[in-house]
Amino acid sequence: MSLIEFDDVSFQYRTQPDDEYALESVSCRIEREEFVGITGPSHAGKSTFCRCIPSYIPNFFDGTLSGTVTVDGVDARETTIGEMATTAGLLFENPFDQLTGASTSVIEEVAFGLENLGLPADEILERCVENLERMNIRDLIDRNPQQLSGGQSQRLALAAILAMQPEVLVLDEPASQLDPHGTDEVFDVISGMDDEGYTVILVSQQLGRMARHLDRLFVLDNGRLVDQGDPREVLDHE
Ligand code: ADP
Ligand code: ADP
Repeated sequence: MSLIEFDDVSFQYRTQPDDEYALESVSCRIEREEFVGITGPSHAGKSTFCRCIPSYIPNFFDGTLSGTVTVDGVDARETTIGEMATTAGLLFENPFDQLTGASTSVIEEVAFGLENLGLPADEILERCVENLERMNIRDLIDRNPQQLSGGQSQRLALAAILAMQPEVLVLDEPASQLDPHGTDEVFDVISGMDDEGYTVILVSQQLGRMARHLDRLFVLDNGRLVDQGDPREVLDHE
């Protein structure tokens, strides 16, 4: 069994018109420790695909799901977002949607998920500091998350997900709020992840620069998975 399996998955948000689907008949397999890129035009279904993996669909987004999504043998319908949090971490495209809104400091924000896991205090502190350093925002540790820029929020959201040490990292446009220098830094961190045993799914409109790190590239268009294969070959078709 593959780590992630989509079998004939279609999803329609409750507010979508009758004849529109965010995903339509998507089937694919992703293996353990694979590094998969996802590209395609706006509204192609990329974010929706990402939301299925940690079971935000169907558990958080209202709509109609058909087919099955399983991650590590667990059906998305038979789990909860909390249970999935240590298996799959999702970085939202908009980091402001991700932040809890309840934390008064950056370190509290990273610690939030770890406290829910019931980890000992010294391990929580260690994981927080390590990942804030990795994302180059250790100097913001006492700052109020509400006062961060888009790029700083995106780094914080990624630090919080990495601190959970999920098996699968699902990164939806992780550099959307960053300037070119910040984008380089974050993509450098991400390119190192597949060597650390993570399975990585990366959505980006600028995957060309990551092509040599990717094992496979998926192309979504109008809710359908229209191409999947060797990144260089797929990019040549584009
Ligand atoms: P992108 O195409 O870059 O994923 P969108 O502009 O489609 O971004 O969506 C921005 C936000 O609005 C997302 O959080 C998405 O879930 C939400 N959204 C998109 N389309 C709709 C819609 N038709 N109804 C409600 N929310 C939507
Ligand atoms: P992409 O990430 O490729 O831009 P999305 O998965 O965001 O694509 O969107 C696919 C379709 O689903 C679009 O038509 C979009 O408007 C719709 N959609 C996305 N998010 C929502 C939402 N939260 N509520 C309603 N419709 C949505």
